[in-house]
Amino acid sequence: MTGNSRNGRPYRRLTIWQRALGLPCWLCGGEIAYWITGPEAGRHPEAFTLDHAVPLSHGGDLLDPANARTAHRRCNSARGNRTTTRKPTRSSRRW
Ligand SMILES: [Zn+2]
Repeated sequence: MTGNSRNGRPYRRLTIWQRALGLPCWLCGGEIAYWITGPEAGRHPEAFTLDHAVPLSHGGDLLDPANARTAHRRCNSARGNRTTTRKPTRSSRRW
């Protein structure tokens, strides 16, 4: 139970590896804006993010490549912390 950190080197390596696959978003099937890099990628809704097939809150492994998925930032955060609800996340979230 150590080293399971998003700031750790293995996680970064997995992120780079997953990004290099050049896959479309596994949630909506849309193309990822891979050309966006740097600080802008941290804000852009269509930038690449590393998602997990089995959410970490459900026991998914942060660092398992088999659990890694490619997702838009938008789709990843929409799915985000509400993995078990049956309600559509879009209408249930208040900012
Ligand atoms: Zn998407």
